[in-house]
Amino acid sequence: MDIILLGPPGAGKGTQAGLLEGGHGMVQISTGDMLRAAKTANTELGQRVKAVMDSGELVSDEIVSNLIMEKLDDLGPDQGVIFDGYPRTEAQVYSLDEILTARNRKLHHVIELAVDVEALVERITGRFTCGNCGEGYHDTFKQPTKEGVCDVCGSTEFKRRPDDNEETVRTRMGEYRAKTQPILPIYEERGIVTKVDGMGSMDAVSNAIEAVLALD
Ligand code: ADP
Ligand code: ADP
Ligand code: ZN
Repeated sequence: MDIILLGPPGAGKGTQAGLLEGGHGMVQISTGDMLRAAKTANTELGQRVKAVMDSGELVSDEIVSNLIMEKLDDLGPDQGVIFDGYPRTEAQVYSLDEILTARNRKLHHVIELAVDVEALVERITGRFTCGNCGEGYHDTFKQPTKEGVCDVCGSTEFKRRPDDNEETVRTRMGEYRAKTQPILPIYEERGIVTKVDGMGSMDAVSNAIEAVLALD
């Protein structure tokens, strides 16, 4: 089963993808994470995307489609995936159709995480992750159980994204409204979109997503 988690920056896509990976043995495919890894490794791709990512604009459709193809080709044909942060433009929707068809894969659900704009800024500016394992945390909503120590791996190194500042967040929201929101009707016409209230607790949102997947 392949699904898309769709929602604005900070909606909780990464958090929910992580929970689905744990519970369903699905694999998260996050274009944001892959691009950040390229940046950190300072590869040619990383150098090319750095400025655009730091500004909050979208990188080119071609770059992300290539990343998706490479990632899918590393996975078995029966390995279900969660697309997190992809597709984000109409062109990416149609690329994904071709990519999936060529690999005999099919989209089962597009889950739209609906969240208030004001909540997003608070979620994003409080976001941090474990520098070792990548586990997600939040200053207010999800502190490590023991202060300064990662619950998952025990690391004491944490990091914040350079684009998680209020100004860049506004740009990212603008990109979402202008380019990503318009892809919803394409999937709605196909009858595969379910809107989930993203304003509840992480567990409440997770339960709502589980209920959607249980319908299959
Ligand atoms: P968020 O967690 O805020 O939704 P991401 O981690 O998904 O953000 O993405 C971070 C940045 O990476 C984006 O602002 C954009 O520059 C780039 N990016 C990620 N995914 C895509 C995509 N599918 N298309 C174009 N750019 C992308
Ligand atoms: P996205 O991948 O959509 O950009 P994240 O999953 O990284 O979003 O979540 C953004 C921030 O908000 C993180 O710090 C995360 O811990 C926190 N968060 C995620 N879901 C919730 C929720 N339901 N309630 C409160 N905070 C949340
Ligand atoms: Zn960790």
